[in-house]
Formats: sequence, structure tokens, C-alpha cells
Amino acid sequence: MVTITFYGATKTVTGSRSLLKFHNTNILVDCGLFQGAKENRLRNWEPFPVPPADIDRVLLTHAHIDHSGYLPRLFRDGFAGPIHCTHSTSDLCEIMLKDSAHLQEEDAYWANKKGFSKHTPALPLYTLADAEAVLRFFSPLYYGEDYNLGGIRIKFKDAGHILGSSFIDIKASKGNRAKKILFSGDMGRPSKPILREPAQVYDVDYLILESTYGDRLHDDAPPEEQFARVISESIRRGGVLVIPSFAVGRTQTLLYIIRELEEQGRIPSLPVYVDSPMAIDATDIFQRRISDQNLTSRVLTIKGIRIFCPKQLHLCRTREQSKTINRVKSHAIIIASSGMATGGRILHHLELRLPHPENTILFSGYQAPGTRGRTILDGNPSVRLHGFDIAIKAKIEDISGFSGHADYNEILAWLMGFNKAPERIFIIHGEPEASASLADKIRDRFRWDVVIPEFGETFELGI
Ligand SMILES: [Zn+2]
Repeated sequence: MVTITFYGATKTVTGSRSLLKFHNTNILVDCGLFQGAKENRLRNWEPFPVPPADIDRVLLTHAHIDHSGYLPRLFRDGFAGPIHCTHSTSDLCEIMLKDSAHLQEEDAYWANKKGFSKHTPALPLYTLADAEAVLRFFSPLYYGEDYNLGGIRIKFKDAGHILGSSFIDIKASKGNRAKKILFSGDMGRPSKPILREPAQVYDVDYLILESTYGDRLHDDAPPEEQFARVISESIRRGGVLVIPSFAVGRTQTLLYIIRELEEQGRIPSLPVYVDSPMAIDATDIFQRRISDQNLTSRVLTIKGIRIFCPKQLHLCRTREQSKTINRVKSHAIIIASSGMATGGRILHHLELRLPHPENTILFSGYQAPGTRGRTILDGNPSVRLHGFDIAIKAKIEDISGFSGHADYNEILAWLMGFNKAPERIFIIHGEPEASASLADKIRDRFRWDVVIPEFGETFELGI
């Protein structure tokens, strides 16, 4: 008997955690942190629904914190089994889990300093030491490699969402009967720079499918075109272009496209400052893991092109290097994190550049309500930074087309490639409207069995 129980990403987009039970083996697929609104984040503090010591191993679809960020806590509470994922995911988890631990420690520090915790002293959800300890349990596999565990075959296939992202393809066998179970993790999109397309699968008995964009479609305009326009207009305005960006994934995509636009002669070569030690570390991993990237990336690399290096690239690791950027007055691009301007070095650049109309601020990703990014994007006259109200006079731009999640047409198109109807599709990882909308679309088009599981709900996968 195989069962699946959903312990997260049910009617929400974070906290992905599903437990697969096969005889006496407990396999946790993804081990994500709940993020966003406070009532979500508080769920990270609840005891894990099964004792972590009873979990035999963890499989990760990709490195994003809403899929991997609970691991240090799972370890701290007793988990001590192997963690399987692709090599790129393992590399990226090293920097992402350490960063997450740092943020947890910082939250606890501020809670103590300002006295807004119910507990004294406030403790972090986990520490850097917990993150470093759990990293020793990673046991990465190659894409396409068969991994056999008494009666279960595990394989990682491209998901096209971020570097290292994968669908997890599981075949559970008993005697001459077998069932195929596929976890989509977060599903990527066709024809994106750097990433391979989501792998087509053909026959799956049970599909666990994400639905972040289950009720939305992406802008058809290619983001590269919009990016070229924003850069050209920024040059005409005479100021600098400041881009708040996620350190892992988005920063590398921006560098790749800037290099392409330069080579195509569509923009002049400009100094590009990457002001984020984490983004620099992530770029090193991207550089090292070209083998996990699409054919175009590999062909360019074979030709000797450093695909993440525009001609005038400046990597700013130290505070002193970061400060030198303040002297730059025009014709430059500054990329810094965090992507929603909730913290990090981007705050200094925004404070300096926002009050001047010749500068441009470009948002290249989703800005959650309540973040400074959202305040700036919503056309407010000022934003609070380092205790001051900073006037927003710079030109504000937004490109939404960089998203790494398939929209509903892209998901339906992928499902259209199946040879047969799955016995059942479980829809997770979406706001309730998005999951319900995707479920309706799949039922309308294919007449397949679709369910949206509740938190803690268990299903038997007949075998
Ligand atoms: Zn993701």
C-alpha cells in the first residue's frame, strides 16, 4: 500500500511538504518553509505532523526556500536521513539554507531587541549551525539517473523552473504491479534563457501538480524586448538603472540577457554592478553547472563565451566595493537584492537613487503586498527607508514576463502531451482560486479526475 499525505502547499503557495508512505518507508517530498503572511509563517513553529526521526529520506524538487527551507528545523527535531536532489539543487541549497538561517537569526535578534516576542529570549527557527549540519546529509543524483530503493525507483527530470529544478518521477512496484507517481515541484516554461524546457512525461498514474498561475496567463511580450527598451530609455534619461533582484536565478537571467543585448548591438556596453555576495556565489554555481543548462547555454560555452558576463561586469562582494558604486552618476546598471526591497544592499541604492528623476528603478519579479517594492510600484510619492521618507522621483518600470512558473495554458499544453489519463491529479501550491480554476480547466478539457487536497489529508494510491 502506498499513501500520500499533504503537509503543506495546500491552498497556499508555500510550505511544500508531501509524505509518501510505502510499506514501512517514509519519504518526504520537499521540505519547504511557509512564507508570506504572518498566519502562514506561524505554521513553521508548529511541530512537524510526523516525528522527523521517523522520516527515512527527503527528496527535493528544487532549492527555493518554500521547498527546502524547513530542512534545518527537520534536522534539529530529529531527522537524520539522506536528502536526494540534483547536483545543482544541492549546490544552491548550500547558499540558500545558510542565508535563510541568517535571516532567522536576524529575526530573533530584532525580536529580542525590540521586545516584540512572546518568548524571552526569542529563539530563531533554526541557526546557521543547523543549516550547516543538514547540508552534510545531501546525497545528490544526476538528472535521469535511476535510484532504486527496495520496490521504489526514483528519477529526477527537468522541470525548467530554476537551475537544478526537477520533476520527481517515482515508480513503486509490488510483484508485477507498479504505479508511477510524478511530483511537478514548480513547473517552468518553454523557451527561457539558461533553462531546459520542462521534460514531457507520457504516462503517469498519479500527478502532484503545482498551480501558482492556475488562473493567470503571462504577458506575451518577450521580456528581453522590454528589457532592451528600459535600458535604452535609461541611457537617454542620463541616470542609472537600479534593479532589485532575487540573488538566485533572476540575477543570472538578467546578466545573460544584458550580455546578449550587448552582443547583438541592441544596447551599448554599460558598466554592470552586481552588488550582492549571495548573487555572486550563485553566479559561480551557474557558471560551474553549465551541464544542467539548455543546449544554447552549452553551445555558447563551448564557443568560449562566458554567458553570465556582460563586457563591463563589476562584482561587489565587500562593503567597500559596494560603496564605490555611489560615485557612479550615469550610464550604469546596478543589480542588488533583495528582489522585493525588504532588506539587503538594494535599500542603500534606492535611498540614493529614488529622489532623482534621471534614474530608473526596474522591478523584474512579483512584489508582494506590504513590501517596499510594492509601495514603490504602486505609485506612492515616497517610501520609508532607514527611518526616513524617501521621495520617489525616479522613473519606475516593471517587467513581469521573467516568471519561472508555467501559466495555465502552458500547464494544459504539457498535460496534452500525456498518452493516457492519469488515475488522479492532486493540485497543490496555489491560492485557493488559482487551484480551483486549474482543476476546472483540466476537468473541462480532459475529463480527468482532479482533487485539491486539504492540509493533512491522506490518499491511498492503489497498488
Ligand atoms: Zn520555486
